[in-house]
Amino acid sequence: MPTFAQALRCRVCGATRPLEAAYVCEECFGPLEIWYDYDAIAATISRETIAQGPHTLWRYRPLLPVLHEESRVVDIGTGCTPLLHAERLGERLGLRRLYIKNDAVNPSYSFKDRAVSVATTAARDLGFDTLACASTGNLANSVAAHAARAGMRAVVFIPADLEPNKILASAVYRPTIVAVDGTYDDVNRLAALVAEAYGWAFVNVNLRPFYAEGAKTLAFETAEQLGWHAPDHIIAPMASGALLCKLAKGFRELARVGLIEEKPVRVSGAQALGCSPIVAAYEAGTDQVTPQKPNTIAKSLAIGAPADGPFAIHEIRSSNGAAVAVTDEEIIEAIFLLAETEGIFTETAGGVTVAGLKRLAEQGRIDPDETVVVYITGNGLKTPDVLAGRFEVVQTAPTLSALEQALGTTAYATV
Ligand SMILES: *Cc1c(COP(=O)(O)O)cnc(C)c1O
Ligand SMILES: [Zn+2]
Repeated sequence: MPTFAQALRCRVCGATRPLEAAYVCEECFGPLEIWYDYDAIAATISRETIAQGPHTLWRYRPLLPVLHEESRVVDIGTGCTPLLHAERLGERLGLRRLYIKNDAVNPSYSFKDRAVSVATTAARDLGFDTLACASTGNLANSVAAHAARAGMRAVVFIPADLEPNKILASAVYRPTIVAVDGTYDDVNRLAALVAEAYGWAFVNVNLRPFYAEGAKTLAFETAEQLGWHAPDHIIAPMASGALLCKLAKGFRELARVGLIEEKPVRVSGAQALGCSPIVAAYEAGTDQVTPQKPNTIAKSLAIGAPADGPFAIHEIRSSNGAAVAVTDEEIIEAIFLLAETEGIFTETAGGVTVAGLKRLAEQGRIDPDETVVVYITGNGLKTPDVLAGRFEVVQTAPTLSALEQALGTTAYATV
């Protein structure tokens, strides 16, 4: 399979350098991203070749940064997740064309598998033997899983106060887990030092340009599942802001290589109020993001100094989207709302997104006939503690009469 990724290119000044483990521009210290030969991709790719590809994110391989024609990808079965027409949730919110992209069903139960599958493939091709990350939880799970599959060593760095289930969901793959006393931003600073000193492949530090590209496949799948059309409006959760930026980039690339009609896509982002530096900057009318110290139950989104913040604000403003911050209580209510209307159990990050959707719908900032896609990025079984004490269980002895008494004659009675 030919490969079309050509160089690393600075997102600020456009300077280029060869494809390697690097993430900062030597000219201006701006962040680097992958540059492709789009004309060559357009000449090769088609809806048919994609349909004949694997039932994973690798069906979009020509649009991903693979280093060599003969590269073997590291794939644990990620992608091709369901896009559901959310009729019941849509009815509650007055939206006729609401869709849920349920990315909580990836192999390690979050969308991070997309980014990590791409980054691990590059790391192995670049000759690294140790895969690492600075994580708010889900990324560590995914890195540990992919390292296992690739036969690499894994070292994952997490904030010490992470949810127990997220630690467990890394530990099972037997990585080295380093719990850092501090916030994610402290973890991230340490990771940058370690990446420099130890020469490990940190998927979201020195391999970040490769890593970030994986999230584009969420946009590719969305368009393919909508019959090769971009939606009118997308709503994504924001931590570093990378996912939101890559969704927007994904739709642009599809138009650029001729797979969809060019069309504007409104891009909206949601954060938890207890860690909402991107929303705060958006509301202040600036793209200077002031770091915050996180205090929210949405730990997977708790990045106080978001690397892609200014780029995310640009995507939101230039597309006429919106940025919203929601309270922890709204997050929990939204977890239940999604579950009881659509049968999907999401973690706190998904609660942020659905609460953001609800807020925008109630404020009339979503047209009832817009095709809206909401991205559910992580699984609820990873953050069960936030629901403790929020539901009831009917207790009964194993007889019909005891059951009748326990249920009462109202809510559950069928005759
Ligand atoms: C990492 C993560 C995100 C978004 O992260 P970005 O840093 O903005 O790309 C969203 N949801 C979940 C569940 C995550 O783990
Ligand atoms: Zn530069």
